[in-house]
Amino acid sequence: MKYDRPEFSQPWKLALEEHFAIPETLGDSQTYSEKDTWQELDNNLRDLQKQRIELMDRTGIEMSILSLNSPAIQAIHDRKRAVEVARLANDHVAQNIAKHPDRFRSFAALPMQDPEEACKELNRCVKELGFVGALINGYSQIGEADTSFYLDQPQYRQFWEEIAKLNVPVYLHPREPLPSQQRAYAGHPWLLGAAWAFGVETATHALRLMCSGLFDEHPKLQIILGHLGEMLPFAIWRAEHRILINPRGITCKKKLSQYFYSNFWITTSGNFRTQALINCILEMGSDRILYSTDYPFESMVECEDWFNSVDIAQEDQLKIGRLNTERLFHLQGKLANQISGR
Ligand code: ZN
Repeated sequence: MKYDRPEFSQPWKLALEEHFAIPETLGDSQTYSEKDTWQELDNNLRDLQKQRIELMDRTGIEMSILSLNSPAIQAIHDRKRAVEVARLANDHVAQNIAKHPDRFRSFAALPMQDPEEACKELNRCVKELGFVGALINGYSQIGEADTSFYLDQPQYRQFWEEIAKLNVPVYLHPREPLPSQQRAYAGHPWLLGAAWAFGVETATHALRLMCSGLFDEHPKLQIILGHLGEMLPFAIWRAEHRILINPRGITCKKKLSQYFYSNFWITTSGNFRTQALINCILEMGSDRILYSTDYPFESMVECEDWFNSVDIAQEDQLKIGRLNTERLFHLQGKLANQISGR
């Protein structure tokens, strides 16, 4: 595989919030583009071989860890169908990875509507297909549309046990709040999606995981949050501070920040802002921040231009761009283009 880029001074990066879609889930992403840009987004979401690899070459990404678009499986409230479509998506991406095994890995899409089936599919993906973890698009609808089941709920404890056994991370990715829960956004559709609602929904879900005692039961679980931590690096102190003053019956054993700094990682996906990144480094250090773009909803080129301009220590840039991801996914020594190879 030739992907020389001699003028590029940064080491090759690894990226892990990089989406694709299959025909069964493609329509879920249409809301996130305007009419005149949908064709391009549609095309980029389907593509796993052409412009995606060209852009990775151009922007110095050695490997993308792929994931299905959102909400996809989590919104298929028919259990059986959710199981079927998850399998389809995982098989589809596995076939594509086989064509470029040095450029791609994948997260499993999982039918959380049926925790037992989700565990089976997780095991199949990790053990047979070589996937590196799971990406779950927030809560799942089960049985009927107006339902929401969050991952801290008791029926998912077996799933978390399985994740702990396999020792793979889970990427908690955003989705919209249910239509019945969108009153705060009435008349302001522009605040839905990635602009605002995604962050609020996902940060709340992450806090639920922390408060539920999940990490007391499984202290080694590792959760990844995109978009520079869905606002939590800015807000975690206040949440913790208020809960200490007014615990309202909370039963988890540690302070929220202790979970946040030992069970969570954050990525740069779709949040290309130096001031916000520096806040994250001040809050949690540079060892748990990972480079990602959120392609094709965001631009790999814009992400790279921004990342190259960030005035932080070179060592931190290297960690965020590559080394932290190698460490989290146990990829050291397993990649085609080692740092010295450039
Ligand atoms: Zn995303």
